[in-house]
Amino acid sequence: MEKLKKIIANAYAPYSNYQVAACVETNDKQFFYGVNVENASYGATICAERNAINQAIARGYRKGDFKSLTVLVNSANPAFPCFLCRQTIVEFFQPDDDLILLADGSQKNYKMRDIIVHPFTKKDLT
Ligand SMILES: [Zn+2]
Repeated sequence: MEKLKKIIANAYAPYSNYQVAACVETNDKQFFYGVNVENASYGATICAERNAINQAIARGYRKGDFKSLTVLVNSANPAFPCFLCRQTIVEFFQPDDDLILLADGSQKNYKMRDIIVHPFTKKDLT
C-alpha cells in the first residue's frame, strides 16, 4: 500500500487526471508495479493493471504464478478494472486469486471470479 501511494504520483494522466497504480503479487512473493499511462491518441493509453501484469509477464511469470492484484485510485471510491484489463486478468489469473481495490481510506476485497462471470478464453477459439 505504501509503495502504491508513492508510485501513483508517477501516473501519466494529463487528460483524465484519474491516476491509478497497481501491484501484482506472485506466489513466490515478487511484486510488480504499474501506473496508467495516457496518450493524446486515447487508444494508446495503458491502464495501471495491465502495465503491472505485463511487467510480470516480461519477467517470465505466467498463469498460476499470481496471487493477487491490488489497484489504488486517486478517487473517493475504489474502482473495478476496466474490461480490457479484465480480459488480461482472465488470461493470466485464476478465479481464486485476490483482487484488492483501494481508494482514499477504503478497501474492497474480491476474488477474480467475482468480476469475471463469463470469460472469453482460449476455449472459445476452438
Ligand atoms: Zn483497464
